[in-house]
Amino acid sequence: MENPRGQRMLAPVTSTSHNQTPALDRADRTWLDTHIDGPVLIPVDHDYASETATFNLTLAHRPLVVVGATSTADVQNAVRFAGRRGLPVSINATGHGAVVSATGSLMINTSRMSDIKINSVAPYARIQAGVRANQLIPAAGEHGLAAISGSSPLVGSVGFTLGGGLSPVFGRSKGFAADHVRAFKIVTADGQLRHVTADREPELFWAVRGGKGNFGVVTELESGLFPASRLYGGGLYFGGEHAPAVLETWRGWVEHLPESLSTSFCLLRLPDLPFVPEPMRGRLTLHLRIAYLGSADEGAALVEPLRAAAPAFLDTVAEMPYANVASIHNDPTEPGVAVDRTALLRELSPQALDTLLSLAGPDTPPENHLMMTEVRLLGGALSRPPALPNAVGNRGDAEFCLFIASIPAPVEGDIERIRAVEERFLDRMAPWGTGGMYANFMSTEDTSAASVRMAYDAVAYERLVGIKKTYDPSNMFRINHNIRAA
Ligand SMILES: Cc1cc2nc3c(=O)[nH]c(=O)nc-3n(C[C@H](O)[C@H](O)[C@H](O)COP(=O)(O)OP(=O)(O)OC[C@H]3O[C@@H](n4cnc5c(N)ncnc54)[C@H](O)[C@@H]3O)c2cc1C
Repeated sequence: MENPRGQRMLAPVTSTSHNQTPALDRADRTWLDTHIDGPVLIPVDHDYASETATFNLTLAHRPLVVVGATSTADVQNAVRFAGRRGLPVSINATGHGAVVSATGSLMINTSRMSDIKINSVAPYARIQAGVRANQLIPAAGEHGLAAISGSSPLVGSVGFTLGGGLSPVFGRSKGFAADHVRAFKIVTADGQLRHVTADREPELFWAVRGGKGNFGVVTELESGLFPASRLYGGGLYFGGEHAPAVLETWRGWVEHLPESLSTSFCLLRLPDLPFVPEPMRGRLTLHLRIAYLGSADEGAALVEPLRAAAPAFLDTVAEMPYANVASIHNDPTEPGVAVDRTALLRELSPQALDTLLSLAGPDTPPENHLMMTEVRLLGGALSRPPALPNAVGNRGDAEFCLFIASIPAPVEGDIERIRAVEERFLDRMAPWGTGGMYANFMSTEDTSAASVRMAYDAVAYERLVGIKKTYDPSNMFRINHNIRAA
């Protein structure tokens, strides 16, 4: 059965499908089919699962209906429909940032909206909602330009940017990705498409850059690019037994770095399984990450103290094209179950490092083992107010960003065990915490109103609440780290 535009329509309502989608009646479905160019899927449809998929499988989305938007008009029609039916709207670009169950919502899948235009003179990229970093990086690279992106190339560029956008390469020298957004288009809860810049709709311009999906669906975004086609970077991998010595060196080393050098470390405990590379299999590994935008010679001189701290079993730090930037972190590419938490640290004093090593180092008792403990160095431009102010919070006092994650064993109660280990971890690190969190690293565990507040400065949060009241008074966009209007 086809609609007037030649697309397949949903099957007529049968008693079975009606039972599974009680809130969508025949008229609703006919309306969606005739007004949406992309696919409109309900739980019984074949592609529903892939369209609603999340990267972290602790959460499975089960919206009432998912709309595979192909255009701004599709997004507007979907939002208008949701408005009329009183449905919350959830947004799925890649599923990498799914934090709240989308059950009962109208989901807009933006992945088909993947157009990229590069202005190599200004320079900036104009990207549609569904663009991923691994599409934007090569498109900008053709012009010798680099887009600020995160550690994983599979993450959506818009979701990444709206939550701040912490780059493992450009963060310390250029600040957050959100700081470089010059314009965007957004469909707000009333179904209007708004062209937002610092001059037109200044409050929305401020709020969405940091306030993420709380104010509507961004259909298109213009963001600055930087002339860079190479860097000196990669990873130094040490056996876990060297972690105390190497991290003590790293701790002192980061105090005197140029802003053109970004760095982080990850204590990794990968399982004893065949797919894990042999030197990391079933043991603790320390992975130091380096990204230096200066010359390879200067970079090698800067990294020398780390190389001297202990023998690395693998050293990939070298001249590299920016296109290979994902190899610095080597993030997972396959979806899986993970329980994660985050915190911002104001310092990594010797006591803080000792505590961290007691929680994640070579002598940590097995019952407290986590799969990964990551610390990213912040500072530099990440600590300064941007030229175009935005809602991204916690810039002033955070020097490090902590992220911990673990994969539960498939046994009853293991998720709860990991939650308890992670809670204790954060409690032990609290003396060095700022009390804040970085929005993009907040997880399914951080969805309470009190947690969401922690992503923002106090005054900024109240301003966000006011802007939410103006643009989304009914809280249509609540399937996220929700800023509540009331
Ligand atoms: C492996 C991995 C590595 C990561 N590395 C980094 C990193 O280095 N730096 C960093 O800052 N973050 C990083 N993140 C976090 C990531 O940036 C966020 O989770 C981000 O929200 C993912 O966006 P997405 O669109 O890919 O995910 P989705 O799950 O599709 O979307 C997540 C949320 O983003 C918002 N959103 C997405 N698109 C739109 C839109 N068009 N309009 C309005 N809101 C929208 C919505 O609130 C949506 O619910 C990483 C995440 C993972 C899983």
